[in-house]
Amino acid sequence: MNQITPPALFDCLQHRHSGQQLRVIQRRLDGLAPMVWALDGQGQLHELPMGPELAETWHRHNPPVLDNQDPARMLGCLLAGAAGDALGAPVEFMSWPEIERTFGPGGIRTMAEAYGRRGAITDDTQMMLFTAEGLLRGQVRARARGLCSPYSVIHNALLRWLLTQGQSPAANVSRNGWLIKKRRLWARRAPGNTCLSALAASTHFGEWAQNNSKGCGGVMRVAPCAFFDNAFELASDSARLTHGHPSGYLAAGLFADILHRLWQHGCSLEAACTGALAAHDKQPGMEETRQLIEHVLKCYRRDEKPTPRSIEQLGRGWVAEEALAIGLWCSLCAGSLEEGIILAVNHSGDSDSTGLIAGNLLGLIHGPQAIPAHWLKELELKDVITQVAADISFVPLRFWDYDEDDTDVSDWIWQRYPGG
Ligand SMILES: [Mg+2]
Repeated sequence: MNQITPPALFDCLQHRHSGQQLRVIQRRLDGLAPMVWALDGQGQLHELPMGPELAETWHRHNPPVLDNQDPARMLGCLLAGAAGDALGAPVEFMSWPEIERTFGPGGIRTMAEAYGRRGAITDDTQMMLFTAEGLLRGQVRARARGLCSPYSVIHNALLRWLLTQGQSPAANVSRNGWLIKKRRLWARRAPGNTCLSALAASTHFGEWAQNNSKGCGGVMRVAPCAFFDNAFELASDSARLTHGHPSGYLAAGLFADILHRLWQHGCSLEAACTGALAAHDKQPGMEETRQLIEHVLKCYRRDEKPTPRSIEQLGRGWVAEEALAIGLWCSLCAGSLEEGIILAVNHSGDSDSTGLIAGNLLGLIHGPQAIPAHWLKELELKDVITQVAADISFVPLRFWDYDEDDTDVSDWIWQRYPGG
């Protein structure tokens, strides 16, 4: 079950608006038209203008202090991951010399156009959102039916993503819930061939992929697993739905466990890495991933900084353990969230996935307020990402503890996350 306790539930600031008591969860950081996100009693997200009354309420309160399991850090993890994905999207298929020629010696540092707009997210963020949807539907199903295989429900969610890519799964996928109705998700953003082919071929929910791929399509989508129990198993087994090579799914498990340790214990990133390695390095097939992460930790301890050229010693991030290693090295060495994500996208490899991994890590460490306002302003789907983060915090807790008489909330949750 989710670890969040009620006092931590987005309650940094109470505000009345249109007769409703709302919990303000995040001020939009664009500086031009200040807005806030707020949750009502049913977990529905509202966007409010920062009028004088709300501004006064806001300033009367000290900024919320991030503690270990502050939901703001969860929001930071998902939003900054998407920001890293969007920053890297225009340069995903460019070599470093091409990036340098196009954007100058500092590389890409602001959102540039990809897929016809600035701030466009890619398949990485899309699949991260559908993984979160599957996790939530699994929680609802477990509560309502007593039994649930989370991998089957996550598989069903990933097949809904496949529908958004214009492909028909062989399996009979449920087409309900709120996420699939977001038409802005129905866009092809260079989806990975392994994810497409493995999902299209699957006939049974929860069935592992019949391939030997270790592409980074497993690791780049599993950050939401960090906020549930058994993060390692949830992430590695759900990555195995599309990637059959041990490095493809064990790197995903390790990534989610590192995030889980940061989330639950508030430890340093270095301690989270060493703790996760110690817990899982005996897993058969972990050698390749373990060696690369240990190499990253050595570089960090020797104070070696990642550069567009030095990152290449880890590979280019097209495969899972390399993408994780690049995201970790850039996050370990960065003085800020912005610096770490910029380091992680400026190299000759898979910039959007390495940017997303660094963004997930640094957003969880520093919170959403550390994301540069000019990135957030242009980030596509930030409302959907924020709603998903709010739901991870709200839905399992409310549905788990729901009262039979409180049917409005349970009906509302069931409609959004039908347990199947
Ligand atoms: Mg991508």
